Amino acid sequence: MAEAATAPAPAAAASDAAPSTAAAPRTERYPWMCPWTQEPSAPRSCANGDAPAASAATASAPTNNLRVLNSLTGEKVPFRPRNGRTVRWYTCGPTVYDVTHVGHASNYVSLDILRRLLTDYFGYEVTLQMNVTDIDDKIIKRAAEAGEPFADLARRYEAAFFDDMRALGVRPPDLVTRVSEYVPDVIAYIEGIVGRGMAYAAGGSVYFDVDAFRGAGHHYAKLEPGSAGNAARLAEGEGGLDGLPAASADANGDAAAAAAADAAAAARGAEKKSPSDWALWKASRPGEPFWESPWGPGRPGWHIECSAMASAELGGHIDIHTGGVDLKFPHHDNELAQAEAYHACPQWVDYFLHTGHLHIDGLKMSKSLKNFISIQSVLTRISSRQLRLFFLQHRYDAPTVYAESALAEVVNVDRALVDFFGAVKAALREAASAAAAPSTAGGAGGLRPSAAASGVLAELGATRAAVRAALEDNFNTPAAFLALLALVKSVKGYLAAPGGSGVNAPVVRAAARYLTFMLRVFGLGGDAGEEVGYGGADGDAESAETVLTPILDALSAFRDSIRSAGREALASGGGGGGDAAAATAAIKRILAACDEVRDTTLLPLGVRLEDRPDGRPSLWKLEDPAAWAAEAARLAAEEAAKAAAKAARAAEAAAKAAAELEAGRVPPADLFRGGEYAGKYGAFDADGLPTADAGGAELPKAARKRLAKARERQVKLHQKFLAAQPPGGGTP
Ligand SMILES: [Zn+2]
Repeated sequence: MAEAATAPAPAAAASDAAPSTAAAPRTERYPWMCPWTQEPSAPRSCANGDAPAASAATASAPTNNLRVLNSLTGEKVPFRPRNGRTVRWYTCGPTVYDVTHVGHASNYVSLDILRRLLTDYFGYEVTLQMNVTDIDDKIIKRAAEAGEPFADLARRYEAAFFDDMRALGVRPPDLVTRVSEYVPDVIAYIEGIVGRGMAYAAGGSVYFDVDAFRGAGHHYAKLEPGSAGNAARLAEGEGGLDGLPAASADANGDAAAAAAADAAAAARGAEKKSPSDWALWKASRPGEPFWESPWGPGRPGWHIECSAMASAELGGHIDIHTGGVDLKFPHHDNELAQAEAYHACPQWVDYFLHTGHLHIDGLKMSKSLKNFISIQSVLTRISSRQLRLFFLQHRYDAPTVYAESALAEVVNVDRALVDFFGAVKAALREAASAAAAPSTAGGAGGLRPSAAASGVLAELGATRAAVRAALEDNFNTPAAFLALLALVKSVKGYLAAPGGSGVNAPVVRAAARYLTFMLRVFGLGGDAGEEVGYGGADGDAESAETVLTPILDALSAFRDSIRSAGREALASGGGGGGDAAAATAAIKRILAACDEVRDTTLLPLGVRLEDRPDGRPSLWKLEDPAAWAAEAARLAAEEAAKAAAKAARAAEAAAKAAAELEAGRVPPADLFRGGEYAGKYGAFDADGLPTADAGGAELPKAARKRLAKARERQVKLHQKFLAAQPPGGGTP
């Protein structure tokens, strides 16, 4: 167990802290009154918080108009951290008891984009702490079911979580804290709250005292005031172990389990002064993991770990706190109450940001609905870059619907961007060789911009402004991304028709570099997030030989096949006379080899060759072979589905034709004597047409006309039927 971090003495009240002079707009709309000043919560520093001089804060503050949707106010407010550029950020991490799914991906990738924007785009110095909940009822339950030590199970899923985050390109937090390593801090923290009279021990557990907290002038629940006192949701946050028999007891079937659950829940209920109170410390029953505490053997409740670990590492005040919207109540509201009680401050967190919920084709994801999609399974169908593109095209704070159909769309966007950068690189290579060539081609490669090139430059400026405005508006990435795509379209148009003396390389490079910069900011490009050192040649770059070997192998094999086919063509007299057919076959093999090297050899090596018309040299582009393989697999699956649908349609048509043929089997003369007409008529004419009904009554003219038409149809059907019979076969 880690040594207890020095917990701040709760007795050090807020009185010795200088009042913060942070910008007013942040807090003036806070919905509660500051208990100390009785004014609309002007932020005060917490007991151990820091309150820098306003001048220092503003001097180093980045200049931007960033506004964020603060869940504490329910409104977009200017983002003005207390310490200028420095941002202390805490985010709720995973409870490690199962594999990570696409809902987690949505949350962590969205937050990763926000973090990259704050650091790489807006220029803040961010310290991000994330917790790992490795003591939890769900973990204990799973481990008991699996017969595995619960710490092992937690460690296994924690490793899987970080593997998935790496695969998603999520930058690792600056600090990861496991609750199992902070139990002494949690105990000290709870003692602090008890010391302030806002928590009480009962039956070996400790509960937060909501009434006492409110009585001291605090506000609960800040994020979801309407949910305060919602016993069902509070119980959900208390963990599921009350629903299990004690681990030491024999599980005598469901009835025993249910009885034990009821008893445990009732016991906790009876210990609480108010149904709104929640457990800070839970007494462990025999067989459950426990830590020694002043209240007896037990373990931390869920909500307390975040307050205690964030305070231990980031101090008594944090700038940003994040998490999924479903954590608002009770988890985040309880975190806020615990920290404000402990630090004796009215405002522990300045900006609470929540990511929206991810719905699967409109449904909430759950294993019972069989729509549980693990990150691993998503990444077999699309690349992590494409998945990020998907999240990028949704606002982080809005509910998002995940649908397979939407994935095909992002794959196309991704494809278009790859093509675009390939075209830009090819154009820049061409421009470079044109510039190096002697100037005989009428000024090719001149630098004075054409009207079209000036247009691109102007649009680049407009795009920069539009992207900034979008990102300053609560990180509106979908709007920013649309602006970037519009610039891509313009540059593409320019490359197709550059005007003047050809492509203006500096202008194209400027636009492409800006686009590259923004894609990297979004985390779409290569990332040095985990790389240390200079990188590149000095780092762990592969040697030239390693990189070139597969390409040179392919080139050499290609040359062999072309050479042997060429020699064959020559030997068979391809030049004139001789065996023309053999020569043609050899030339066809040469062309087939050219296609094969393009489509099946180079693509998996990450090289895309594109033939161009008018005798222009083909283009080559480097791309991610894994992305190509995923795309090829997806296209193959689509093709297979199309082929299956086509086969089904053909089978249906064949069945229909067979049925029609079968309908023609009856000769027209016998039509009204059997089948659906059997027994209906009593007399027929020479053609087999009925003249009277079964009772002998003559048929009216209209009826006979109708029957004559039916007979005509049968004549045609029967002719078809006869025509389809094998020759020589008798009429059935
Ligand atoms: Zn938390």
